[in-house]
Amino acid sequence: MRKYDLVVCGGGLSGIAAAVQAKRSGVKNVLLIERYGFLGGMATNGLINPFMPYWKSNEPKNVLIHGIFAEIMEEMRLFGGMKEGSDSFDAECMKIVLQRMVLKAGVEILLHTFVEQVHIKNDRLVAVRVASKSGIEFMAADAFIDCTGDADVAHLAGTPWEIGRDEDHQCQPMTLSFRMANVDRSKMPSNKEIDRLYDEAKARGEITNPREDVLHFSTMQDDVVHFNTTRVVMHNPISARSLTDAECIAREQVWEMARFLIGHVPGFENAYVQVTGTQIGVRESRRIVGQYVLTKDDVMNQARFEDCVCRFAYQIDIHNPTGTGTERWQLPTGGYYEIPFRVMVPKHIVNLLVAGRPVSADHAAHSSLRVMPACVALGQAAGVAAAMKLKKGSVAFKDLDGAAIHAELEKAGAF
Ligand SMILES: Cc1cc2nc3c(=O)[nH]c(=O)nc-3n(C[C@H](O)[C@H](O)[C@H](O)COP(=O)(O)OP(=O)(O)OC[C@H]3O[C@@H](n4cnc5c(N)ncnc54)[C@H](O)[C@@H]3O)c2cc1C
Repeated sequence: MRKYDLVVCGGGLSGIAAAVQAKRSGVKNVLLIERYGFLGGMATNGLINPFMPYWKSNEPKNVLIHGIFAEIMEEMRLFGGMKEGSDSFDAECMKIVLQRMVLKAGVEILLHTFVEQVHIKNDRLVAVRVASKSGIEFMAADAFIDCTGDADVAHLAGTPWEIGRDEDHQCQPMTLSFRMANVDRSKMPSNKEIDRLYDEAKARGEITNPREDVLHFSTMQDDVVHFNTTRVVMHNPISARSLTDAECIAREQVWEMARFLIGHVPGFENAYVQVTGTQIGVRESRRIVGQYVLTKDDVMNQARFEDCVCRFAYQIDIHNPTGTGTERWQLPTGGYYEIPFRVMVPKHIVNLLVAGRPVSADHAAHSSLRVMPACVALGQAAGVAAAMKLKKGSVAFKDLDGAAIHAELEKAGAF
């Protein structure tokens, strides 16, 4: 058993922001646990790219998210890891930039370590049990932040959660990202023309992927194109068996898409599959049912909260959980909504917060706040709240003053 002040589980963008901010806010011993051999979560292991909008709706000059998110972007720029004039970034640069950031802040990191059980006493989380090449160990702490993306810790601790949409609990599809290299961009047709060629290939029976179009982005390298276009529907991201099936289906889709691109799309004649994500990308899995559940109405009506920890305006963006099509609702130009601290506070356990993707929101609201900028902002807010809680001794997270957390975030330059 090792003892810390704060243990953050999951080294994705939300976990990094939580751990770094907690240290900066005065927490002494902070441990960050990550199952892979590098940090970044979906931004690196899922090869997800680029950052979705972090400004007021349709107003790129009115930035809403500053703080640690802006620092990551700036560090990436200095490292040469951001594409000039865009929000595309290089995943390898991201790995080293994040690692330096957490080590510089004084956070202890433990890689290759999986959180697999919890030890609860009454309404407190005492320790998480982890498995690694060292065997089984217990990491005890006064407070914990669950940044596993799937709310693994909250689930193990027995707090309530939901999954998928109300009618059938199906989640948004999973997507294995991949990149094609040696592409001659000067010959690449318009998106509309690529989609027309894709429809033709579908009609010839060459495509099994249910996605309606070919979603692709530029990268740091002129000859490399990023694809976020495979689609595995009706699989369960929190079942190892279903995830295994999903990985196999997605890998077939990557090669199906590569065959189509090389064979039918100008510019791809000499291209090849350069890389796939370390794992399939999971858009949605558990969402905790916390002290407040953010709803689609809150997003579309631009809700305001005293305990606001993040302002955001990314559209509601639901990739069809069962097949073709994507539903999108944009906020009016200049609009934004607020996310309250309470969405990170699970029920029953007094010393646990959940940050990042699985916070308390309905299926539609989740589809907006799940993207990277908001996950970083929520992580930073969790770090502020953890420091505040630890200074006050045994106070429960739910009893913290949300307006005071907001004020601390203002001071930390988050808004
Ligand atoms: C296909 C796809 C496309 C997307 N496109 C975009 C986009 O274009 N722009 C955008 O801004 N966002 C996009 N997103 C959303 C975004 O990438 C993620 O929602 C966000 O990065 C989640 O951050 P997180 O820190 O909450 O979780 P994650 O990034 O999932 O991090 C969780 C971390 O915890 C670790 N972990 C998990 N379980 C355990 C455990 N039990 N023990 C130890 N470690 C554990 C994981 O390895 C991981 O490092 C996309 C997502 C997907 C799947």
